[in-house]
Amino acid sequence: MSLPMATDGSRRERRYVVQTFGCQMNVHDSRRIEEVLTAAGYTQAEELDDAELVVVNTCSVREKAEHKLMSLLGKLGPQAGAPSRRIVVAGCVAQQEGETLLKKAPHVDLVLGPDNIPELPALLNAAEAGAPPTARTVFDDEDPRFLRAIPRGGSEVTSFVTVMKGCDERCTFCIVPTTRGSERYRPADDIVGEIAQMARGGVREVTLLGQTVNSWFDPSTADANKPRSRRAPSRSEFAELLHRIAREVPELTRLRYTSPHPRHLTPDLIEAHAELAIVPRHLHLPVQSGANSMLRRMSRRYTREEYLERVRALQERVPGTTLSTDLIVGFPGETEEEFEETLDLVREAGFVAAFCFKYSPRPGTPALALGDDVPESVKSERLQRLFDVLAVQQRAHLDSLVGQTVQVLVEGPNDASTSRFTGRSERHEIVHLEAPAGVDPTGQLVEVTVERAFRHSLLGRMAGATIPEKPTPRPQRRRLPVVGEAGA
Ligand code: SF4
Repeated sequence: MSLPMATDGSRRERRYVVQTFGCQMNVHDSRRIEEVLTAAGYTQAEELDDAELVVVNTCSVREKAEHKLMSLLGKLGPQAGAPSRRIVVAGCVAQQEGETLLKKAPHVDLVLGPDNIPELPALLNAAEAGAPPTARTVFDDEDPRFLRAIPRGGSEVTSFVTVMKGCDERCTFCIVPTTRGSERYRPADDIVGEIAQMARGGVREVTLLGQTVNSWFDPSTADANKPRSRRAPSRSEFAELLHRIAREVPELTRLRYTSPHPRHLTPDLIEAHAELAIVPRHLHLPVQSGANSMLRRMSRRYTREEYLERVRALQERVPGTTLSTDLIVGFPGETEEEFEETLDLVREAGFVAAFCFKYSPRPGTPALALGDDVPESVKSERLQRLFDVLAVQQRAHLDSLVGQTVQVLVEGPNDASTSRFTGRSERHEIVHLEAPAGVDPTGQLVEVTVERAFRHSLLGRMAGATIPEKPTPRPQRRRLPVVGEAGA
């Protein structure tokens, strides 16, 4: 392993920090950035102030995330007293803005698109050698690269695996097709190989990632070059992928996926949910609006009735499956009646959670031409009404689990107690659990009797454990400053 070259020609250790904004895809990309840097001889700094290299992995789905980026870049500017610190802007804003970002923030050394992560060390070496600030934002359309996660020595119970990237859907509010490019798919052998390697290293739950993850098909098959319209319409290759992973990686306990598109929730994918014990009884299925007129303006390519028909079919086939979703309020032209149709859909589908956002116009999206005519105060009021309905449904759902026994995959100890751990139920509820003294159930699937429901989580105990009045404190661990937001 060679260390990065310093300007005086010596090789020395350089410390880095990666700050992440946005969605799971960005969190996943940040891990790959860390791995690429570690392989090139960089080490992770504990604090932002200790880092000679700061990589900001950005999100442009909403205006707020972009404002946070510019504010952070302002703090990292020349006045920060670290003139030799290198600053890299990666992710969706990097891809969207390219060279323009170098003009807006001249102290940025490198602007790096999501497909150019493997080139990061070479570009940093060039910067060290005196190259001017550079924007490298080229899609890998001809030869798509999917970086494999490097195993972290048994410390991880859950992990993400990318199966496709880009998006061909063109929803009118969304910048992703511009920032992530057209759809590219990863061969099944490569996906299954990475998951098997993770499982050997102790990972027990994998979430398959992609912008429209359930549209996946295997690019290495004979069918791959046919346009999608000429491929068998009812056959879901994604369902076949789930079956293959379950068959070939028996160590795996759970297999989730995000984010699916409702159009690709096909009958055989529903069958896979019913047949495969490792696919949990929970689905996050973005709907965005409950009004057909809005869905048309958003170019979502399904109707409210089709959405409900599919989730009902899933819940009939797999009773007890819970649903969560994504919703936008204040999309151009949204009337009170259209918003009420959304509230009505939220009740009818019985969502137990949702990511809800106020519409904000994004440059380069078709919806820009529709204006932004819903006043901010109306957007805020509708968002609050949505939260209120969802809070009631989530609370009722969590309360209904008190006294029941749920299966929990334990992800690790929490910070508050020596015997308290945290995991997720198969329906994705966060469960804090008390383990018997001296037992560490991390990585195991355990039965937990639910004793209490909080606003967003549950508390329970494993057989043989008691819940103390006050947990025994666990020593505090140091944490890096958090500037990003989880879940775009
Ligand atoms: S399917 Fe999702 S990622 Fe693709 S354009 Fe629509 S909202 Fe954006």
